[in-house]
Amino acid sequence: MHSQDHDRIFLSPPHLGRHELNYVHKAIEDNWVAPAGPNLTGFEQDICHYTGAAHCVALSSGTAAIHLGLILLGVGPGDEVLCPSFTFVATANPILYLGATPVFVDSEATTWNMCPDRLREAIEHRIQLGKKPKALILVHLYGMPAQLDQLQAIAELYDIPVLEDAAEALGSRYDGRRLGTFGAVGVFSFNGNKIITTSGGGALVTAKTEWAEQTRFLATQAKDPAPYYQHSAVGYNYRLSNILAGIGRGQMELIDSRVKSRREVFAWYQANLKHISVLQFGPTEPALGFSNRWLTTITLDVAHTSVTPEQVRQHLETHNIESRPLWKPLHQQPLFAQAAMYGGAVCTDLFTRGLCLPSGSSLTETDLRRVSDALQEILRP
Ligand SMILES: *Cc1c(COP(=O)(O)O)cnc(C)c1O
Repeated sequence: MHSQDHDRIFLSPPHLGRHELNYVHKAIEDNWVAPAGPNLTGFEQDICHYTGAAHCVALSSGTAAIHLGLILLGVGPGDEVLCPSFTFVATANPILYLGATPVFVDSEATTWNMCPDRLREAIEHRIQLGKKPKALILVHLYGMPAQLDQLQAIAELYDIPVLEDAAEALGSRYDGRRLGTFGAVGVFSFNGNKIITTSGGGALVTAKTEWAEQTRFLATQAKDPAPYYQHSAVGYNYRLSNILAGIGRGQMELIDSRVKSRREVFAWYQANLKHISVLQFGPTEPALGFSNRWLTTITLDVAHTSVTPEQVRQHLETHNIESRPLWKPLHQQPLFAQAAMYGGAVCTDLFTRGLCLPSGSSLTETDLRRVSDALQEILRP
C-alpha cells in the first residue's frame, strides 16, 4: 500500500476524553468566561491533589510559570542561573526576560538530565569567578526524572534554590513522590503536545503560601490592595482562562491512564524493535525514578550504521509518520552563543544520534506496527 493511503501519525497529539466538554459547557452556561472561576480553582485543586503540592496557580503557559518562578527565587538583572543545555528553549528564555544570564550544564548518559559532577564544577567555578549562581533550574526531559538525590544535595550544600521544570513530567515520580514537588518552585505545561493539555496553559506549584499569593498577584497585573487601580510592582497578564481550565479538569481525570498508555507505547517499541541492534532506547530511569515516558526516544549506534537520525526522520515522513530530532542543546543555539557551558560532549552526542518517535497515548497497535515496519525498512534493509 502506498504511504498517502495512510492517515498521518503525529508525534504527540492531544488526547481528549468525554468530560472536558462538560466543564467547558458549564463555564459558558454560567458565564464564567474569564481568567477566574470554578474550573480554575477546581483545576488547581486537582493538580494539588494529584501531585501532593500544597499550592498551585494555573497560568497561561509553562513559560509564564518559569518566568514567575524565577522572580520568586529573586532572580534579577545581572544574576546567573544554572540550567541544563539539553532542554527546550522555553526553560531558558525566562532567564533572559529578567536580564539574567544562563550558565549551561551538560547532561549525564543515564537520565540525559543534568550531570551532578558538571553541576558541582560549574558552581565552584562561578564562585571562583566571584559570582555565585542565584538559582538552579532542573529539567526532567521527556518525562525522565533527573538524579534528584545528588542534584538536590549539591544545591543544598551551596544554598542555591531550585526551580523544577517538570513541563514534560506530570505523572513521573522520584522515590515515590511526584516530580514538580521537589524544587522550591515546580512548573508544569499543558501545551497541546504534552501528556495532558488545555491547548495552552501551565501551572506553578509551591509549598509556600506567600509564594502562591505572590504568583497570583504578579499574574494579574500586580494590583495593589486599593479601591482604584494602583500598582507598585511590574505585573503580568499570565492567568489561565476558566474555559481552558475546564479542559484541564477533564484531562486530570485521565492522567493516570495517559501515563499508563505512554509507558505502554515505550514498552511496545522496546519489545518489538529489540532485534535492531543499531537502535537503542534511552534515557534510562534512575534507581528511584519512574518516568511518564512522555516521548519515546531512540539513539542510533553510529559506529555500526551509516544511517543518520535525519534520514530516519525523512523515511518516516514518506510513510506519513511524524518524528522529530531531540532538543538541540541550548549552548549550540545562536541565541546563547555567548553563554558559559560546563561540559557539552554528552548532550551534543545525544543530539547527533537521537530521534523522538510517535508517542501519543491514542496510538493503536496498528499505528505502532506501521512505525516499527518503517523503522525496520531503513535500519534493517
Ligand atoms: C513545553 C515546555 C516548556 C514550556 O511550556 P509552555 O506551556 O509551552 O510554555 C518548558 N520547558 C520544557 C522542558 C517544555 O517541554
